[in-house]
Amino acid sequence: MGARIKQRLKYLLGGDMIAGLALTFRYIFKPKVTINYPYEKGPISPRFRGEHALRRYADGSERCIACKLCEAVCPALAITIEAAPAADGSRRTTRYDIDMTKCINCGLCQEVCPVGAIVEGPNFEYATWTHEELIYDKARLLENGDRWEPLIAANLAADKGCADGGKT
Ligand code: SF4
Ligand code: SF4
Repeated sequence: MGARIKQRLKYLLGGDMIAGLALTFRYIFKPKVTINYPYEKGPISPRFRGEHALRRYADGSERCIACKLCEAVCPALAITIEAAPAADGSRRTTRYDIDMTKCINCGLCQEVCPVGAIVEGPNFEYATWTHEELIYDKARLLENGDRWEPLIAANLAADKGCADGGKT
């Protein structure tokens, strides 16, 4: 029987449809490999590099000492810092901006920070409608830190063995 006749017979008998249905039934009772995002979320690594946050110490004071190492190391030139002495004589930032549309989530700012102030937290759901909304100022970064601190501390503890990532 020629290949052409075989092909026509398969077509007339619905061969492709039967093969497709067989494949469907083979997988219908197997565990699902997909999740119903955003109602279900998959696990993420403690090292996940998500939305940035500025952390505080347990007494509420800012960790950042305005050393500007993160600004210097950032390969995307996404960080802008201005600093001045605070009333108690310590050095503090008066401006801390991150242009999240420039950021490439390399994690170098977190790695270089001597006091564990700037971190990339676990949040990945921060899409916006406008560019302006992705230019974060110090208030926004501190707010992120306050909101995500429990999870940030838990992730650092899981990854590095302590809640401040081995930094003061
Ligand atoms: S993650 Fe990398 S690119 Fe983004 S702000 Fe930090 S150093 Fe810059
Ligand atoms: S976030 Fe860290 S590295 Fe950046 S200025 Fe503050 S203390 Fe320095």
